[in-house]
Amino acid sequence: MALARRIILLGPPGAGKGTQAKQLAEAAGFLHLSTGDLLREAVARGTPLGLQAQPIMAAGGLVPDDLVIGLLREALDAAGARGRAGVVFDGFPRTPPQAEALDQLLAGRGEAIDRVVLINTSDDVVVARVSSRRSCANAQCGAVYNLISMPPKAAGKCDKCGGELVLRSDDQPETVRARQQKYWQNTAPLIGFYRARNLLIEVPGNGTIEEVTRGVKGAVGFASPAPAPAAPPAAKPPARPAAARRIAKPKPKAKAKARPKRKAKPKARPKRKAKPKARARRKAKPGDRARKAARKVARKARPRAKHRR
Ligand code: AMP
Repeated sequence: MALARRIILLGPPGAGKGTQAKQLAEAAGFLHLSTGDLLREAVARGTPLGLQAQPIMAAGGLVPDDLVIGLLREALDAAGARGRAGVVFDGFPRTPPQAEALDQLLAGRGEAIDRVVLINTSDDVVVARVSSRRSCANAQCGAVYNLISMPPKAAGKCDKCGGELVLRSDDQPETVRARQQKYWQNTAPLIGFYRARNLLIEVPGNGTIEEVTRGVKGAVGFASPAPAPAAPPAAKPPARPAAARRIAKPKPKAKAKARPKRKAKPKARPKRKAKPKARARRKAKPGDRARKAARKVARKARPRAKHRR
């Protein structure tokens, strides 16, 4: 599956969209766009938009579409967003008008959403997760922890900036219930919208962060970098204690076969057969002497051949 480059993470509040979006964006070098983070920043800076959004967010409601769409457009046009290989949208779109506005925004750049990942999480898991979630009060940081699955190194302190960790006002149990209601009313219809366009992939979201990450990465076609090649084997493994040798299983035969063939020890060179001193050793036969004498006489009688030039 080819790597998707314009990705929406969909799911109820507490499904882990923020954590997963951040991880995926970092791993793939994509831009992470969270409208929740952008709104919290606006609230912290006290901008007109922030002042308008703050009471709505505190009550677990949805900030009006036109405000959020404007915020997203600005973020997509910002200097840091240009030239990125892809974008992960987290918490946006949350309504059908936002989904349509996103289509138009991307079409204006010659782009389109190519994957929507729905993180399926049950309500009781969401409530447990959100109640143990702690966020950095420093709006410039905004790091999120979980007291159970991702605790900070020092209790109550952000690992990254040392800021105070707090239970976000919209993570209070009654606000979470309001947010869940909004999700089912306004956001869940997007599941059908993207499924009809063949863009939706569902992944289980009740497991550990690592399990969900595997599902999300698989859904967008992100392959982790290949593992580093194995280190060369140590010169000689340490000798095992006698007890370990006793309980060691016998090696399966197949393995023994797989062992590379030891180079055959060159056989000792066979002794070269002594060249028989053939004629000399031949047993003298009767009549040999007579024949030899006759040959000698014949040689003497022959005229000597002239030297050839
Ligand atoms: P999040 O961090 O995504 O859970 O968002 C926190 C709060 O910000 C939500 O409960 C909403 O009040 C507001 N918010 C974030 N994104 C949107 C959006 N796309 N549309 C409307 N309100 C939003």
